[in-house]
Amino acid sequence: MDYLPLFVNVTNRRCLLVGAGVVAARRLRWLLEAGANVTVVAPDINDEVRALCTGRSEIRVRRFEPDDVIGVLLAIAATDDSAVNRAVYDAANKRGVLVNTVDDATLSSVIFPSIVKRDPVIVAVSTGGRSPTLARRVRSLLEMRLPARLGMAADVLDRWRSRVKLDIPDVASRRRFWDEVLDGPAANAMYDGNIDLADSLIGARLNRWDQHALGFVSLVGAGPGDPGLLTLKALQCLERADVVFYDNLVSTEIVAMSRRDARHVYVGKRRAFHTVRQESINTMLIDAARAGDRVVRLKGGDPFIFGRGGEEIETLAEQGIPFEVVPGITAALGCASYANIPLTHRDWAHSVRFVTGNLTEDRVNLDWPELAKPDQTLVIYMGLRGLPEICRELIAHGMDPTTPAALIARGTMPDQQVIEASVDSLPKAAQAAEIHGPTTVIIGRVVALRKRLGRRG
Ligand code: SAH
Repeated sequence: MDYLPLFVNVTNRRCLLVGAGVVAARRLRWLLEAGANVTVVAPDINDEVRALCTGRSEIRVRRFEPDDVIGVLLAIAATDDSAVNRAVYDAANKRGVLVNTVDDATLSSVIFPSIVKRDPVIVAVSTGGRSPTLARRVRSLLEMRLPARLGMAADVLDRWRSRVKLDIPDVASRRRFWDEVLDGPAANAMYDGNIDLADSLIGARLNRWDQHALGFVSLVGAGPGDPGLLTLKALQCLERADVVFYDNLVSTEIVAMSRRDARHVYVGKRRAFHTVRQESINTMLIDAARAGDRVVRLKGGDPFIFGRGGEEIETLAEQGIPFEVVPGITAALGCASYANIPLTHRDWAHSVRFVTGNLTEDRVNLDWPELAKPDQTLVIYMGLRGLPEICRELIAHGMDPTTPAALIARGTMPDQQVIEASVDSLPKAAQAAEIHGPTTVIIGRVVALRKRLGRRG
């Protein structure tokens, strides 16, 4: 280890900042935020530094003198003059004062880390001064992975600390309690900023700590296929899950993002071939949650768009199982973006409709006169089998037969396939192309914009 990581309490301690340009201003901001009394020394003071220096801070408009470091806890050299920086470094070293030169580890006894701030939680990253860019990369990885309200969670946990200590005196049990809280629904509530819910969940768990925990179900949208379209929240759910129930629309790459030791249960349903019936899926979710598992029910696209998510949570609610719903990118949005079709457009479409083309008793029952109207975009889910009837009915109810349309199969996946045709010729074109995989149909004048935007697939 090249450096000893420390968090230094600088509240009301004197710190010296030599330089008053843009870089110095950045350091000044940190020092002030941490409560330091700062002395700024520089012949020229920029406006930002001047504005920041109020109250406990002091500005000396002159060149640096070695005696400036006397009585200082930390000195920072932030000038673009290496001779001045060296003079600060030497003076500080001579008097045992900690010193940092911005962007120069060789003239520093301490270096500033790259930080991820979730006050009061701070994560500091250092590459030992080797590569600030690499440190920033690590930082942005953490930035993405750590819930935005982590700091709020720290405050909630702090409030409960003494009460939990009193109720669960045994250290190991107490640690289990906190782990359970942080792995469970209370953590989600804190990260969602729902403090009341978090408090009531923590309190309820504490009151019946002698009984085993009730699990939690996250109904998670996995997006249309490309794993890059998962939300951060979906990923966090997967990483926490004990068991993952997934459909055939969810790619194996996404299921594999869950913990290695998590159970994976396939509950796929294909049209007219219900591998596992809806009621038994509901029962499986409830049983797993009752056994104390953190359950993820992973569904293609968004759970609430033609995904029967509503029915699943209704049963959970009836049974008193705590749950959450994590939205996903629905097929319409994924397919449209990846096929370069803007779903709305100021000149061509003022609204967009998501409709199901599913057949009931071999017929598609939709409000044709409404759907045939111009200036809107139709996105048809599950519309491949009924496509000839859909296109026929739309034209019969007044849609211009030359209206552009596209069929997108396996949208957002590496082998995405797009077939473009007018609405009257799309069924034939689809038949000729032998489509397989999930397919979404987009009808409307916006489809013609693909040509201008560049095609894909
Ligand atoms: N809840 C899902 C939809 C489930 S219904 C969502 O929000 O996307 C299943 C239908 O979704 C399929 O028949 C197809 O029309 C569409 N679909 C799902 N994934 C798709 C994909 N990758 N490409 C094209 N269509 C897709």
